Amino acid sequence: MAGAGRMPQGKTILVVGAGFSGAVIARKLAERGHRMVVIDERGHVGGNCHTARDPDTGVMMHVYGPHIFHTDDAQVWEFITRHCEMMPYRHQVKARVGAQVYALPVNLHTINQFFGLALSPAEARHFIGMRASTAPQEPLSFEDQALRFIGPELYQAFFKGYTRKQWGVAPARLPAAILNRLPLRYTYDDNYFFHRHQGIPRAGYTAAVCSILDHPGITVHKQARAEEFDLAEYAHTVYTGPLDRFFRHRLGRLGYRTLQFEHEVVPAPCQGTAVMNYCDENVPFTRITEHMYFAPWEADRFARSVITREYSATAGPDDIPYYPVRLLDDKALLGRYVALARQTAGVTFAGRLGNYAYLDMDVAIRRAFDVADHLLDAFTDHRQPAPFVHPM
Ligand code: FAD
Ligand code: UDP
Repeated sequence: MAGAGRMPQGKTILVVGAGFSGAVIARKLAERGHRMVVIDERGHVGGNCHTARDPDTGVMMHVYGPHIFHTDDAQVWEFITRHCEMMPYRHQVKARVGAQVYALPVNLHTINQFFGLALSPAEARHFIGMRASTAPQEPLSFEDQALRFIGPELYQAFFKGYTRKQWGVAPARLPAAILNRLPLRYTYDDNYFFHRHQGIPRAGYTAAVCSILDHPGITVHKQARAEEFDLAEYAHTVYTGPLDRFFRHRLGRLGYRTLQFEHEVVPAPCQGTAVMNYCDENVPFTRITEHMYFAPWEADRFARSVITREYSATAGPDDIPYYPVRLLDDKALLGRYVALARQTAGVTFAGRLGNYAYLDMDVAIRRAFDVADHLLDAFTDHRQPAPFVHPM
């Protein structure tokens, strides 16, 4: 590993991970004249956003789970649309509860259908307000927040079982921040997201990441693990793999949820929408994805469709880590790993895994811009960058 002090000249910078975080950092540095080597242990670039056409049906698959690009960040939108043709897409999610299908996020239609009513927006606000608990104080758990937000009946039906399946623990042990990702609407608007820009790349996310990496200053090695590289040969390393893995889990393992995907080819159309959540706890999977609906511009061309049932489980040592759990124990351990990261000269930790954070793609790209700026400032001054740790 390169030591602290002056930035060595004429060397190359290693980037571990070819997801959005690694690709964007590599691109920004390459554009300023640095030589970048990007490695990924997978056989493709794009990280968890990887898309590929199913060879059997031709349907574009979201290989590691459904990915919709949504952002309010104009610079991030400008950057991504320079690297792909972003097609208009409006994400709607349906939820199965018992024998009924409802619209998510919880909106006026959901409330009226669930309670068998025909309330106006103001009446619904009052109705939910009467049910919502006002008791708990900060810090709120997921369950406290849900009870304050939507009351016990909707919480029980839409959130309790799904959340237990998704996270493997009682919602009373989870942070409220997970629930804060979802809006509650007293209108019939069933757009899952509330951001200004929303879309899906026409040619898929992997093609977008290939475009980001397509620069004469960038070399990409697939099926290459960081553990096989001597970091001392590089002027600096940007590591977007799991933080605890970098340190060979010497302080213990951070908690992650992994996912299992069960694919099936079926006559098209099958469920008639991209994502159907299954909120009941006795249904073992969390959701079913019908991939062709992520590309509505081509959906009517397929005679056969691919659906994927998604199961969530605790990540074991050989599983792909998808969601950082971030319970109290994890946060304490994270603090100790962050302290180690701060003492590790020559390495910058970034991305969803390197920061052990629940980041959407647009936030991962924004943070990658920040990391690149931080590194460029240091390289311009010919010094080793100070450890860069985002608030976690
Ligand atoms: P990753 O994509 O995880 O890339 C890290 C890469 O590093 C991987 O390719 C891995 O193989 C490689 N790597 C790790 N360790 C090593 C090593 N030691 N050696 C070599 N290579 C290594 N975001 C949205 O905005 N919208 C969505 O709809 C959305 N849906 C999602 C659904 C699911 C199921 C999941 C899990 C995430 C979703 N996200 C979504 C988040 C999105 O996937 C992330 O924001 C994005 O993948 C972050 O990119 P990254 O480069 O930080 O990490
Ligand atoms: N959630 C739920 N029921 C649903 C959808 C979401 O309980 O039908 C909860 C669940 O805990 C999930 C969180 O709300 O992790 C945030 O939902 P989001 O759709 O943002 O999750 P993602 O799959 O994008 O991580």
